[in-house]
Amino acid sequence: MQAEHPPLRGGGFIISPQNSGSIPKAKPLSPPRKKKAVKIKELIFPVLNDYCSYAESMTSLIISKLLSALIAACCAVVFFKYFTFGTIICVDGTYVATANSDKSFYSAYSAADTIAEQNGIYDFKPDFSLTPTLTLKSSIKNAQNVRDELLLTSPHFVRGCVLYSKNAPVFSAESKSVAREVVDDYIKTYSMNGTVSLGSDISFKECVISRDKVSDKKKCSDLLFQKDAIAVTSVVNKAIEKEIPFETKTQNDANLYIGETVTVTEGISGKSAVTEETVYYNGTQKSSRILTENVILPPVTKVVRVGTKEKEVLKTGVLYPLEGVISSPFGSRWGKMHEGLDIAVSEGTPVLAAECGTVSYVSENAGGYGKFIRIDHGYGVETAYAHLSKIEVSVGQKVNANTRIALSGNTGRSTGPHLHFEITQNDTPLDPVKYLKKR
Ligand SMILES: [Zn+2]
Repeated sequence: MQAEHPPLRGGGFIISPQNSGSIPKAKPLSPPRKKKAVKIKELIFPVLNDYCSYAESMTSLIISKLLSALIAACCAVVFFKYFTFGTIICVDGTYVATANSDKSFYSAYSAADTIAEQNGIYDFKPDFSLTPTLTLKSSIKNAQNVRDELLLTSPHFVRGCVLYSKNAPVFSAESKSVAREVVDDYIKTYSMNGTVSLGSDISFKECVISRDKVSDKKKCSDLLFQKDAIAVTSVVNKAIEKEIPFETKTQNDANLYIGETVTVTEGISGKSAVTEETVYYNGTQKSSRILTENVILPPVTKVVRVGTKEKEVLKTGVLYPLEGVISSPFGSRWGKMHEGLDIAVSEGTPVLAAECGTVSYVSENAGGYGKFIRIDHGYGVETAYAHLSKIEVSVGQKVNANTRIALSGNTGRSTGPHLHFEITQNDTPLDPVKYLKKR
């Protein structure tokens, strides 16, 4: 019996001595039990492998189906986001618009027909046809647009622009740009080169209008100005130079006769720089005020010496031209200066000269004074007699204090029979009562 070599360890192979020098044949060292395990695996693994493959293929199929469904749903969402069903409207075979539906079209048609009748157009009978369609949502016109497009198939209607002021129509222009030009010209006319503000709410409404209601630019402008339809307020600030008038001060001078004056200092007007604000309403000045005023040159006050010395003739006094009741004294009356004395007497009372002198003026109709006489007493002193009924002297005639010169009356601007009597020195009226004495 041949002793067996102990098995060589290494790589799990037995190397036979007879086969040394050549490549040893490898023999598996697995025991028979191990060979049985391999067989079980070989039996089970293909089944498992088949099952996994099946599961994988089923998962892939489901995912694929789900993805397809998802894509289809997305496509549907996207599609119906942009596309819809509608109705194509044609008139006389020409495309007019796409409506939402037939119902929408008939509603618009009815509205168009009503507008046509309101404009006196009774032959609005468009020959239309309707075709269902699938179309972009953006191409669908609303009922008002469809109505307008239908109206525009008639030669009686055009596109235009109506100007409204305070919600009332002012004019209809051929376009918004023309309407705006008309309004801009109007505002410019009333701007007065100032700061403009509008007091009216205006709006431009682009719409379909009856052709015969559209006015040309000039007519639109005329309508706007005629109606003064827009309230334009313009505030103009202007820098101007303004004259400051000088004041006059008087000083009594006893060395000068009444009516005589001597200028001591000449008056000189001043100047100021003024900012003036003027408010215009549609071109008409409404108010004006001074915002700032700076004196550039102050004015110089005029100083005048005024005589107070009485003439000798008045120092001794003059006689009443007639006797009667004083009905209105010398002085301010009814806001005016009454430069004489009214003596109430019945018409036809003789009037005597108040002092000797020369008749310097006679008039049969001296305006409000009626029949009128003036007598010059020398030294600048004169007496006057008004509202007479008869004049009995002539110019140049010498008279004395007892000469009858006229008859009293009620001529000229007079409220009743009376004599209006004046005394003047150097044309300065004096209060007769101060100088009159009884005969
Ligand atoms: Zn009088």
